[in-house]
Amino acid sequence: MIKEHINTPITNKCDVLICGGGFAGISAALAAARQGKKVILLEKSYMLGGLATAGLVTIYLPLCDGIGHQVSYGIAEELFRLSIKMGAEDKYPENWLDNIGTKTEKDKRYEVQFNPQLFAILSEQLLLREGVEILYGSYAVATDVCNSKINAVIIENKSGRQAIKSKNVVDATGDCDIAHFSGSPCDTFKQGNVLAAWYYFCGKDGYKLNTLGFCDIPDDQKTAEHKENHLINRRFTGLDGQELSEMMRLSHTSTLNDIIKKREKDDTIFPTTIATTPQIRMTRKIVGEYILHDAEMHTYFEDSIGMVSDWRKRGPVYEVPFRTLYSKEIKNLIVAGRCTSVTDSMWDIMRVIPCCAVTGEAAGVAASITDDFSKIDIKRLQEILKHNGVILHEKDL
Ligand SMILES: Cc1cc2nc3c(=O)[nH]c(=O)nc-3n(C[C@H](O)[C@H](O)[C@H](O)COP(=O)(O)OP(=O)(O)OC[C@H]3O[C@@H](n4cnc5c(N)ncnc54)[C@H](O)[C@@H]3O)c2cc1C
Repeated sequence: MIKEHINTPITNKCDVLICGGGFAGISAALAAARQGKKVILLEKSYMLGGLATAGLVTIYLPLCDGIGHQVSYGIAEELFRLSIKMGAEDKYPENWLDNIGTKTEKDKRYEVQFNPQLFAILSEQLLLREGVEILYGSYAVATDVCNSKINAVIIENKSGRQAIKSKNVVDATGDCDIAHFSGSPCDTFKQGNVLAAWYYFCGKDGYKLNTLGFCDIPDDQKTAEHKENHLINRRFTGLDGQELSEMMRLSHTSTLNDIIKKREKDDTIFPTTIATTPQIRMTRKIVGEYILHDAEMHTYFEDSIGMVSDWRKRGPVYEVPFRTLYSKEIKNLIVAGRCTSVTDSMWDIMRVIPCCAVTGEAAGVAASITDDFSKIDIKRLQEILKHNGVILHEKDL
């Protein structure tokens, strides 16, 4: 054991500290800055977007329920449009964006494939315009908790170890790191993640995304295509530094093997971009004041902060209760993104991009109006969200 450093300097202070710059963090930062708060967004890498950019997961899953209704609005829709401001890569939903054709069960859902590099730059410019301070290359490594509140988040970057003091903290790390450091109740993904190696490549047929290890489906539901896509017979927690390094190495090897195989048919093929962050779906989540279950589709929640659909099926709509974003243990901490309080079966629905934007926006607004989330004026939060274009309840669609 090495003794902990003492006298960590406080280098920054803000109203809202967002830890993590994926879709959840971007949405939270935008929402809080638009409420006039001093916002710092902390990101361990050097680009925004998290899994959706550095992880090359560039399919913005549906904002609609698949049977004709848009359900996710507000910043979820704003970022959707931003992601294709300079053109879509694929799956452009002309029926939704240009009103061509219909939106029934047989038609395209409101989803799209975007370019990761363009989104990272465009979202960075948007946040800077809104006054968000972005601190790249900065890893949150611990928290200082006092009287059930986070007093400061301890970070490390090229300048060494420092502390940032903030009235409120949004945990948008995807892995619930801040909640875990602070002693909030958390749960982990017991089943573990399959190996994925999504990468972009170029060949005679042009530039393409290869979704290698593309989905995690129970064995009895797998088609031949899924089986072929299963890379190795091993699962990963995503919460162990050593394991993550090994996972990245295995992912690189899978990419290389795949390129070699593809070259048997097209010898011009080469990879253009590989992921620079581990492609891990589910790791750790908060155990909040409410745990949302996948059977609770079409359920009215008084404290709904917006709606999401099920990307895998047409029809289901979920209202998202505010209580899934915090636990009472740490009063000024709220989570957003792929680590909110849900059952394991609901996790696969809530972890995707539009849902991360929905919870991110609500967390950002909430963090601008209280520093004790269990005592929030829920009506005030909902009024601001509605004013920003969010539809809260299915009955209002
Ligand atoms: C293989 C795979 C395929 C997927 N397919 C799809 C799909 O097709 N469509 C879809 O919509 N979703 C898909 N998903 C899910 C989706 O991409 C993610 O769940 C979503 O983007 C998560 O957003 P987030 O902001 O919650 O977290 P992340 O994107 O993980 O962002 C968290 C950010 O926080 C930073 N961070 C983490 N810890 C710290 C720390 N301690 N200090 C500072 N910064 C930190 C990270 O660098 C990262 O930028 C897929 C995921 C995977 C892995």
